[in-house]
Amino acid sequence: MDATSESEVDVLIVGAGPAGLMLATWLSKLNIRTRIIDKRPACIATGQADGFQCRTLEILDSFGIDRVWKEANRMLEVCFWNPDADGVIRRTGRTPDTPKGFSRFTECVLHQGRMERFFLDHLREDGDTVRVERPVLPSVLTIDESALDDPSAYPITVRLRHFTDEQATPDNPPGSDIPNGLFRSNLTADDTDSLIKTSSDASTNRDEIVRARYLVGCDGAHSWVRKQLGFKMEGEHTEIIWGVLDVIPVTDFPDIRVRSLIHSASAGSLMVIPRENRVVRLYIQLKEVSEGGGAVDRSKVTPGQILAAAQKIIAPYTLTYERCDWFTAYQIAQRVSDRFDLSERVFLAGDAVHTHSPKAGQGQNVSLQDSYNLGWKIGLVVRGQATRDILKTYASERQQIARDLIAFDQKFSKLFSGRPAKDVSDETGISLEEFRSVFHQGAVFAAGLSVDYGPNVLVVKEDDGDVHCVPSLASKIPIGMRLASHKVINQSDALPVELQRLLPSDGRFRLVVFPGDISNLDIRTRYDKLGEYLSNPTGVISAYTSRTAARDSVIEVLTVHSASRTEIELQELPEAFHPFDKARGWDYRKVYADDESYHEGHGRVYENFGIDGEEGCIVVVRPDGYVATIVRMDDTRSLEAYFARFMIKA
Ligand code: FAD
Repeated sequence: MDATSESEVDVLIVGAGPAGLMLATWLSKLNIRTRIIDKRPACIATGQADGFQCRTLEILDSFGIDRVWKEANRMLEVCFWNPDADGVIRRTGRTPDTPKGFSRFTECVLHQGRMERFFLDHLREDGDTVRVERPVLPSVLTIDESALDDPSAYPITVRLRHFTDEQATPDNPPGSDIPNGLFRSNLTADDTDSLIKTSSDASTNRDEIVRARYLVGCDGAHSWVRKQLGFKMEGEHTEIIWGVLDVIPVTDFPDIRVRSLIHSASAGSLMVIPRENRVVRLYIQLKEVSEGGGAVDRSKVTPGQILAAAQKIIAPYTLTYERCDWFTAYQIAQRVSDRFDLSERVFLAGDAVHTHSPKAGQGQNVSLQDSYNLGWKIGLVVRGQATRDILKTYASERQQIARDLIAFDQKFSKLFSGRPAKDVSDETGISLEEFRSVFHQGAVFAAGLSVDYGPNVLVVKEDDGDVHCVPSLASKIPIGMRLASHKVINQSDALPVELQRLLPSDGRFRLVVFPGDISNLDIRTRYDKLGEYLSNPTGVISAYTSRTAARDSVIEVLTVHSASRTEIELQELPEAFHPFDKARGWDYRKVYADDESYHEGHGRVYENFGIDGEEGCIVVVRPDGYVATIVRMDDTRSLEAYFARFMIKA
């Protein structure tokens, strides 16, 4: 088929699942010319992922997307059920689902399609420049290797094929009219190749050629982009098949509205996930289907058969349902791609580079976080603000997370699929203590809060060349991790605000200045001197901000001081800390106090961050909210040296 049109775009995203939509959101925010295509005619309406972890909720909030948190079911408790000496299941423990103090959010549950909808709405409200094009898929990829290092080149050429909705709608498995995820499950073959082969009719299909600076494959576990690059998924398939049912249950099981992990004596395991709108998701080990291993006949996987397995595990309690919203079955495959990018021009994110069991609720979360890590980096490079060096950090930062994820999932899945120990002498069985301990150890990881990016061009954890990093100045702020949130009080109007709310995802770096008690003369003098430097035309802000742009458009300066709020007058502080703009007047949202609020207590930020109020410090925060480095209040040379590593002067 001849291609009818040719065009150029900065970024082409293949796949509009969680990873693709997050990336599109970043790029839209940064005004990058972006196209996003998906081979399905519509976003998913039921099923698939449902768990939202703390870090994901923080990230969504940083884009102003709060609808997941508002609509989701908050999952606050976990109950453990195990067989007693007579083999009857009993509740053996309870624990908070998200341990206290992790985040201002707790784990919650809502089906993936809602979140995809929220992203689409957000894109529309955010200028409507990026729209998902459906059903469209890439059929040929070529890369001009001679142009890879030229930042202005379009070295990637992709042939896109447009389909009819009918062609792109997957068949339901025989015998079931209930929506299901079997077509997306790893028990079935992917249909991308056959779609390409069978769709060359010029009257229904159209081809076009797109040249892109960057291509990102967010096209899921069967990734076409990954296959074109020849990258290998490393890891293994387990023999265990799991079934999933989204139902409105009718049961006398007492913990149906809390997350319950049930190990039966000999019928396998079951996990209960209480969802929105009275729905409950059940993850069920399907013993019969998995026995003997080998290929699985998906027509045998029916909601009735999955329910029968659940009934055996949950007995003597009864379980049935009136309505089933969705079902699926999958075989656990724990794999990571050997590479995450080709020459920092073609990237892969999400399930395209890591697959594992869904029970720990990680896939969607880690996938969103992959492209959250990538989006601003591509954006700054395309805008000409940063060198291509920062793109190298995507693979180095996210591949490690994917490996950690697989290690976590291997432990978690083994314990969950294993047979419970009969007593202390039963060495091959899984003891309750062992299970609980792995569950607790994994809690920080599962919440997405253990992500700790290692040293690289963007993260300086100790003295490195001209950047003198002094981590002890904020002993409880781990460099490389996301800046935690505590309440601070706005200097101008006394409003308590979460610190993370001051770090929206808008592509800016931030200098969060903790000057200490600025009612003290010496400390104030040091702070004023920093202010003078930041206003200086030869200072770090001027170096990277064009004269016509707002002063805070590339690097924003925020202050959290530890003086009593009422002893400080905003207008007396240097202008660099509350810049003036002819159209908007003084900026009243840049200076905060670590002080008691009228109604919401005291955030104790200095104490929680381990900052000495006499020494103070400057914390450099990346556009994704991760801490880049920590320097002394008067060490403006280190600030200059840090940004000179990768920023391009305005
Ligand atoms: P996908 O969601 O797979 O999206 C890929 C997109 O690319 C799709 O829209 C697809 O149509 C499109 N596409 C594919 N190939 C092409 C092509 N060639 N051309 C164009 N478009 C293409 N994760 C959690 O975090 N929490 C959970 O609670 C959870 N529960 C789960 C429960 C189940 C039963 C399952 C199956 C998964 C669960 N997951 C969970 C995992 C989660 O669904 C995935 O990890 C997540 O959807 C991955 O997002 P993604 O964007 O990388 O890929």
